[in-house]
Amino acid sequence: MCAQAVSEYKPRKPESGILHRLVSTHFDEFVESFEDPDCPESGLPTFVRKEFEGFLDCGILERGFVLLFCDRCQREHALAFSCKGRAICPSCGARRMQETAAHLVDDVLPDVALRQYVLSPPFELRGLLACKREVLAKMVSFFVRAIFEQLTGWARCQDLPEPKCGAVTFIQRFTKTLNISPHLHVLVLDGVFANEEEGPRFVECPAPTNRDLLSLAQSVFKKMEKFIAKRGYIRSASDALEEASLTPVERWYVRGLAEPSMLSPSRIADVRSTAIACGGFSVHAQVRVARGDRRGREGSAYMRLVRPSPKINFA
Ligand SMILES: [Zn+2]
Ligand SMILES: [Zn+2]
Repeated sequence: MCAQAVSEYKPRKPESGILHRLVSTHFDEFVESFEDPDCPESGLPTFVRKEFEGFLDCGILERGFVLLFCDRCQREHALAFSCKGRAICPSCGARRMQETAAHLVDDVLPDVALRQYVLSPPFELRGLLACKREVLAKMVSFFVRAIFEQLTGWARCQDLPEPKCGAVTFIQRFTKTLNISPHLHVLVLDGVFANEEEGPRFVECPAPTNRDLLSLAQSVFKKMEKFIAKRGYIRSASDALEEASLTPVERWYVRGLAEPSMLSPSRIADVRSTAIACGGFSVHAQVRVARGDRRGREGSAYMRLVRPSPKINFA
């Protein structure tokens, strides 16, 4: 169990870490600061409180442990329970990050070239995307579908039979400075599997051009506009309302309506490109990992797993 030849298992001491000391000293005060005696609904949401409480107990032997017997050194080791939190516990976060990245690289992603597509939505939609799961889910499906359509479209021009694409989406909810900013990192197989008689064969595709990226951004923009209006996230006839009374989402919507008819991708120069924006949506696709580059693959999976919530798509 403890693989003595390599190194002795040493339990970590979370209670001596800076974050643990900071949270345990100020947690009660922090919880109280959210309570308003005049408002019964006030207070820290239960799921947030549970994350903190779990973190305070994580890895502390007094809070529960299992005894493991090691055949090699013939000794017992106490292994403290972990909180399995997804938000603030650095230990559980790091473990999940490594396990998920290793799982993706070992068992999920085939050894072919990958490209990372990043979609950043307009500032005005951040709040809506952060609170409404269905809006975020739609944005993921619009973006991934647009990428897949582009790849299969290219494959059909090459006469590749029954092209199939693959991608893993990582939803990131925060920036480095913990600002709320839901955005997507999508690891896409950089080509298609063609269903040939001898079996599936992977064919790499050329790097996207700025026309390709513009049509991705436009597709997501148009579909999000329609969806947000249809689901009632803006008032009807928002364009007739006073600018000052508009919500951020309505402002974004009205500005989109006022934009002159969108530039057709076929009217811009078809050159290699790594980033473009449309209607506030920006698309980046500069990171590519070559076939056989295991470290690159793990790295791009690790980096995208800081706040992991991957969704796997195959089409
Ligand atoms: Zn041992
Ligand atoms: Zn933990």
